[in-house]
Amino acid sequence: MAVQWIGSPNKDKGREGFRPEAIVIHIMEGTLKGTDAWFKNEESGVSAHYGIGKDGEIHQYVGESDRAWHAGRIVSPSWRLLKADVNPNWYTIGIEHEGREDTPWSNALYDASARLIDEICRRWAIPCDRDHIIGHREIRSDKTCPGFEADVDKLVDMANEFQRDPATFNFIKKPGAVKARVDLNIRELAPTTATAVVRKIKKGRKLKYQGWTSNGMTVNGNAHWYKDSDDNYFWAGATEQPIPGL
Ligand SMILES: [Zn+2]
Repeated sequence: MAVQWIGSPNKDKGREGFRPEAIVIHIMEGTLKGTDAWFKNEESGVSAHYGIGKDGEIHQYVGESDRAWHAGRIVSPSWRLLKADVNPNWYTIGIEHEGREDTPWSNALYDASARLIDEICRRWAIPCDRDHIIGHREIRSDKTCPGFEADVDKLVDMANEFQRDPATFNFIKKPGAVKARVDLNIRELAPTTATAVVRKIKKGRKLKYQGWTSNGMTVNGNAHWYKDSDDNYFWAGATEQPIPGL
């Protein structure tokens, strides 16, 4: 997907040992153009990693490995996974959306945001669920952000559809068999923990596969998944051959 780099001086290099574990959804309370200027202005003292326009264009202000300044204040939070005594900016990625709190979201805005969320979740092995994709006010309850029109449940559902889309995974056809190194789960139709477990396999059992993908969900640094004869997937890291084809 096309992302235009804008940049912002309002950031910290790196994440002090933390990594992105959740995505925070924001509303700009303004336009994409205005947000570009605001985040480029040192005096604003704020930023986010991404901004999405109502027509679906995506701008980036801060690299995902760096800390943006978008959700640093905690006020009566309701978020279950909030860490005690850690600024949430260290372990979250912020996405801004064009419009105001009462502006209905366009389909293009939902679509671009869900695609971006899908990509970020894969990149950082973030579970694509409502615990890990949250509205800003779940951290800071004195704000309405991301507004009354943002349907975060819908965003998560849409991103999950993309997570399951077979067209987004490469496939190397090369049948073989591999032994389960630990008890493992067979996942329904996609190389990700986002889909249902169709069956469980005991450690030591030999599993046949028709091939593999090398760009499934990254789990413990490994994005390889084998595809079985039913088009379901199991993570290569749980087998005695964690890197297929060697
Ligand atoms: Zn916000």
